[in-house]
Amino acid sequence: MNRHPSEAHRASRLVSAERAPFQLSFEFFPPKTDVMEERFWDSINKLAPLKPRFVSVTYGAGGSTRERTLRMVSRVKADTGVDAAAHLTCVGATRGEVDEVVTGYRDAGINRIVALRGDPAEGIGKPFTPHPEGYKNAADLVAGIRKLGDFDISVAAYPEKHPQSADWGTDIDNLKRKIDAGADRAITQMFFDNDDYFAFVDRAQAAGITAPIVPGIQPIHSFRQISGFASKCGAHIPDWVAERFAGLEDDPDTHALVAAAVAAEQVLELVDSGVTEFHFYTLNRSNLVLALARLLGVRPD
Ligand code: FAD
Repeated sequence: MNRHPSEAHRASRLVSAERAPFQLSFEFFPPKTDVMEERFWDSINKLAPLKPRFVSVTYGAGGSTRERTLRMVSRVKADTGVDAAAHLTCVGATRGEVDEVVTGYRDAGINRIVALRGDPAEGIGKPFTPHPEGYKNAADLVAGIRKLGDFDISVAAYPEKHPQSADWGTDIDNLKRKIDAGADRAITQMFFDNDDYFAFVDRAQAAGITAPIVPGIQPIHSFRQISGFASKCGAHIPDWVAERFAGLEDDPDTHALVAAAVAAEQVLELVDSGVTEFHFYTLNRSNLVLALARLLGVRPD
């Protein structure tokens, strides 16, 4: 038998009583229509019993979902008892306007923020010009939030480098500035090759970053949709992943099984490498995330 020598020590083979519990968080976006809102609550109600560390709700470009994000995070917390994190960007807003959103979260009892620069209104990849009276970037925003209350702050990290970072040194320095400004952890952009994540963590640690870098996992509910998102945000889909989905456009059952298998392989490999915290991009769906949580031994109470 050609058994991997470390097989007997794989962390993914431990039962939950033998190890510390995994820390999970789930990301949602604020629904736009009644039908989407129904799906949002259906998924929240299925995932909340897994007792995630927090459920986060994104913030639309340029603050377009400001009220909806606040309404959703407040209700998630009130209805499910699960901690909620509100995303926040500083695009196109003065410091005063952003601070008002932060104090609004604080007054609503939301003490977790995912602090982001955001992308320009012209689209991802276009040069970013801060508002003349606004926060300049995410590090500046984190420092501003710290002055307004005792928040738990997450920031973004990019295992394949942010598309606007000229080189790795610039990218990692920027992450370090965000952590030094007071962020508690980084959550990564989606990635599909774990080697990119491992190399990124090594680079960050070599630069003295000790805060957790939580992998952001994007289950591939729809290959067509996710490959579109990935190319927009600078995440690459390896050929071997693309090949697994090739030809499944009209075969949703096999597509769903392959999606579960691909995400399971990614997550369990991370577990075997010592990862204990995960952030799942749910796209307001619960089924694949429920299955992945089960593989991690996380069950509803
Ligand atoms: P920053 O950390 O400020 O960095 C952006 C780029 O600017 C980097 O290349 C950095 O090196 C460079 N830079 C920063 N400061 C300087 C400087 N002083 N001089 C030169 N270059 C500099 N977007 C949304 O609109 N809403 C969301 O809810 C949302 N949620 C997200 C959640 C996660 C987990 C992730 C990973 C991303 C999310 N995004 C969201 C996307 C994010 O807004 C974009 O990726 C955006 O392009 C960068 O945001 P940032 O916070 O990483 O920016």
